[in-house]
Amino acid sequence: MKKTILTGIRPTGSLHLGHFAGALENWVRLQNDYECFFLIADYQVSDYADDIDRVRDSVWQVALDWLAVGLDPQDNHFVIESLVPQHAELSVLLSWFMPLGRLQRNPTLKAEMADLETGKKGVPVGFFVYPLMQVANILLPRANLVPVGEDQLPHIEMTREMARRFNRDFADVFVEPDALVGRVPRLVGTDGQAKMGKSLNNAIFLKDDAATVTRKVMGMYTDPTRLRATDPGHVEGNPVFMYHDAFNPDVAEVNDLKERYVKGAVGDVEVKKKLAVALNHLLDPIRERRARFEANPSLVKEALEKGSNEERAVAEETMARVREALRLDYIARGMPAAAAP
Ligand code: ATP
Ligand code: MG
Repeated sequence: MKKTILTGIRPTGSLHLGHFAGALENWVRLQNDYECFFLIADYQVSDYADDIDRVRDSVWQVALDWLAVGLDPQDNHFVIESLVPQHAELSVLLSWFMPLGRLQRNPTLKAEMADLETGKKGVPVGFFVYPLMQVANILLPRANLVPVGEDQLPHIEMTREMARRFNRDFADVFVEPDALVGRVPRLVGTDGQAKMGKSLNNAIFLKDDAATVTRKVMGMYTDPTRLRATDPGHVEGNPVFMYHDAFNPDVAEVNDLKERYVKGAVGDVEVKKKLAVALNHLLDPIRERRARFEANPSLVKEALEKGSNEERAVAEETMARVREALRLDYIARGMPAAAAP
C-alpha cells in the first residue's frame, strides 16, 4: 500500500518559478512513490470573489501547468475542491474544535490578512478560515505527507494538532501528516522585495515565452549599491544570484560570475543574460508539454473529472467514520432510549 500525499494550489493565476522550486518539483519527484491528491483549492479564493472569471480561468491554467511540469493524472488525482463537497462538510465539523485564538495567532494568516487590509480589500470571513479548510483538505484523504512551500508550515502544524485531538477525543480516524518543504522554501520575486506571488507582479510564470522571461530577467532588481560594472557588487541577498543558485545547473559558471561580481569584473547585463539562458533551458520542455495539452482540452477535462470523482469516494469513506465518531449518524443509531416515549 502506497502512502498518501495531499497538496494544493489556489486557482488565482498561473504558476511560477516559486511554485516550481517550492513545491511542484517535489510533487513530480514523489508522484510514483505516493498516491497523490493534487487539489485546486477553489473554496479558498474569497479574496478573489469579485473576480470569479479569473478563478474559472485559473482552474484550467493550474491544471495545464501541472501537466506541463509532468504530473501524471492517471496514477494520481487532480481534484477540484468544490467538486468534492465533503471538503466543506469536514471544514464545518472541524471548526467546532478550532479555538479562535489558534487561527488569530497563525503567522502566515496574520501577514496575509494585514496585506488584504492594506490593499483596502478587507478580510472576508472565508479568508480567515482558509487555514481551517486546509486542515480539512489534508485530513480528508488521510494524507501522510504534505509537500508545500515554507509559508504553509503553520497550517500543517494546525493539522497535526487537529488530528491528535480528534483521534484522542472521538475515534482514531485521522492520520497525523508530515510537511515537506521544497528545495527553495520561499523564492523571492523579481522585485527582490516580497515572496514571488501570482498576483504581485513579480513572478516569472512557467508559461511565459522565452522573450518574456528574458525581458523580466533584464528588469530584475539587483544590487542597488552598485552603479557601475567596475564597482564591487554584493552576491549575498542579490535576487539575480539567488535565481542562479536555484535554477542554473552550471555551478562552475555561477561561481565564476560570483567571483567576478564581487571584484567588479562583470556587468549586471552579462549575469542576467546567463540567467535568462538557464531559465529558458529549464522552461523549454515545460512550455512544449503545455502546448500539447492546450491543443487537447478534453484531456485536461478528463483529468479533472476523473480525479475529483476518485477523491469523492475516499472522502465519503472518511466522512462516514467522522459522522459515526461524532455520533451524527442519527438514522443508523436510531432514537436514544431515554428520548423514546
Ligand atoms: P496567492 O498569491 O494567490 O496566495 P501563491 O503564489 O501564494 O498565490 P498558493 O496557491 O497560495 O500560491 O501556494 C501554492 C503552493 O506554492 C504552496 O505550497 C506555497 O507554499 C507554494 N509557493 C507559492 N509561492 C512560493 C514561493 N515564492 N516560493 C516557494 N513556494 C511558494
Ligand atoms: Mg498563497
